[in-house]
Amino acid sequence: MPVTHRPFELVPPCATTDVPALFVKDLSFTYPDGHVALKNVSFCVEHGEKVVLVGPNGAGKSTLILHLNGILQGQKGEIKVYGMEVEKKYLPLIRAQVGLVFQNPDDQLFSPTVFEDVAFGPLHMGLPEDEIHERVGRALQIVGMGLYKERLSHHLSFGEKKRIAIATVLSMQPSILVLDEPSANLDPRARRALINLLGEMNLTLLVSTHDMLMVRECFTRMIVMDDGWIVADGLSEEILSDHRWLAQHGLEVPC
Ligand code: ADP
Repeated sequence: MPVTHRPFELVPPCATTDVPALFVKDLSFTYPDGHVALKNVSFCVEHGEKVVLVGPNGAGKSTLILHLNGILQGQKGEIKVYGMEVEKKYLPLIRAQVGLVFQNPDDQLFSPTVFEDVAFGPLHMGLPEDEIHERVGRALQIVGMGLYKERLSHHLSFGEKKRIAIATVLSMQPSILVLDEPSANLDPRARRALINLLGEMNLTLLVSTHDMLMVRECFTRMIVMDDGWIVADGLSEEILSDHRWLAQHGLEVPC
């Protein structure tokens, strides 16, 4: 599926002279079993931009996201975060800049209490105690969980865990927040609260989702992946209006 078949206008790549928040060029990745999960993926996200990544199951979204802070490393291509190459010597800096929230909050919450989970990152950054408390308080406030500090993480509802997982990353004060399927398995009220939260966040955002209503509501720019390729990168409104093209790429048309 060559990228030249993209039917939509591309967002001008890195049009500004400033360094983009995320810069990905010709990234390819093959898993050890030989499965090619990313094929010449290129895009960039400017500082402050909110971009959504959509595509059917198996399109390569999670694989791509895991490259953005060096959990996976591509065999070919280039990734830069604020101009820094994603390579071993910069990983601590890059991981402080790129906050990654996994699909399953249980992969992110492993301490007995909410406070300890949210304090984990700042504690390992060697920050003083009062700053750790301040960061935990602020992160919990942003996700609307200010009263949950002393609660036991593993007793929370799924939606509450999702919010705490976001707070564990916000307490590191990243410049870029990357969320993998944040609205999956949330009930309507928790989903609505999450959509409002994403809308209000003043951060560079890259969000992978199947939730086309969330796309419509929160993101003016969308990147579509299919079978490891980026098949569209442009205005959500335009892409969402082509129902036939969406269906060809395994995406449900929002009503
Ligand atoms: P998405 O997030 O879009 O659902 P993924 O990035 O999870 O897609 O997967 C992309 C492709 O890579 C899929 O075909 C998936 O089966 C395959 N894949 C994912 N993880 C592994 C792995 N550890 N080993 C081999 N193949 C994998």
